[in-house]
Amino acid sequence: MRVLVTGGAGFLGSHLCDRLLHEGHTVIAMDNLITGSTDNIAHLAGHDRFRFVRHDVTNYIYLQGPLDAILHFASPASPVDYLELPIQTLKVGSLGTHNALGLALAKGARILIASTSEIYGDPLVHPQQESYWGNVNPIGPRGVYDEAKRFAEAMTMAYHRAHAVDTRIVRIFNTYGPRMRINDGRVVPNFIKQALHSEPLTVYGEGNQTRSFCYVDDLVDGIYRLLVSNEVEPVNIGNPAELTILQFAQRINAIIGNEAGIIYKPLPKDDPQQRRPDITRARTILGWEPKVSLDAGLEPTVDYFAKKLGKR
Ligand code: UDP
Repeated sequence: MRVLVTGGAGFLGSHLCDRLLHEGHTVIAMDNLITGSTDNIAHLAGHDRFRFVRHDVTNYIYLQGPLDAILHFASPASPVDYLELPIQTLKVGSLGTHNALGLALAKGARILIASTSEIYGDPLVHPQQESYWGNVNPIGPRGVYDEAKRFAEAMTMAYHRAHAVDTRIVRIFNTYGPRMRINDGRVVPNFIKQALHSEPLTVYGEGNQTRSFCYVDDLVDGIYRLLVSNEVEPVNIGNPAELTILQFAQRINAIIGNEAGIIYKPLPKDDPQQRRPDITRARTILGWEPKVSLDAGLEPTVDYFAKKLGKR
């Protein structure tokens, strides 16, 4: 296949490029580099089936030649990023998705859209099944991401129904691994960076809120399986192993041997209190479930950040 990956220089996008190339496909990575980095794809420079195009997909996407698939992964994805880039976040989820869908229609390409567990908002149903419609504050600080992604899902289904575009929707839960931006403000890079500097970890609120962390290789495998499946309905991909943020902080301090402990900071507005994917659909339809334990996934992740910080 000839595949376009928007957000191809980002954390997930770059890992998807690797997987697609490994499967023998030809890959065009597109990114405007506002949160992505060419560092993430530097190892692919010179690869004869890989090309990078710098472009902001909120503007019309012009691409010559045939296209078999599009993976639309362009978007800020860290709460800190989308608070700093609220309009870009809204635009890439709405206008960017519209452009990507238009390109899919024009080329007769399959398109897979990156959606998110954020469409469930601060969920009143636990764990979250795909049938749950969510509890989102449209005008809160996170609304710029949540509503853009909800719009993206609606637009995707509209292109599927009105134009018979071959669509896929993945709802991605918290994911971690090498190539996360060290200063993106999310809990995994924050805690690892703080622990490597022997600083106390900044737990927001009392740390009772929960998350379920999926290692990037597992996530990419689930996405690839969804891409080559026939499933048009949204599919949750994530790791159901749930823990509180306080437990997660303690785990990081133990693994890194950080004795500086924990400090408490205010809980950001509308921070979801609990989050865990119900992955029955992925298990049943894709035969997928995560394989990498938290400790096993943290090892290469800590190693990556340690190297970035010049600690190893
Ligand atoms: N969090 C924290 N300390 C930090 C960064 C984040 O306690 O330094 C908490 C945050 O309040 C949230 C959870 O960790 O409850 C996950 O936050 P993240 O920004 O990684 O992504 P989210 O899951 O909220 O989209």
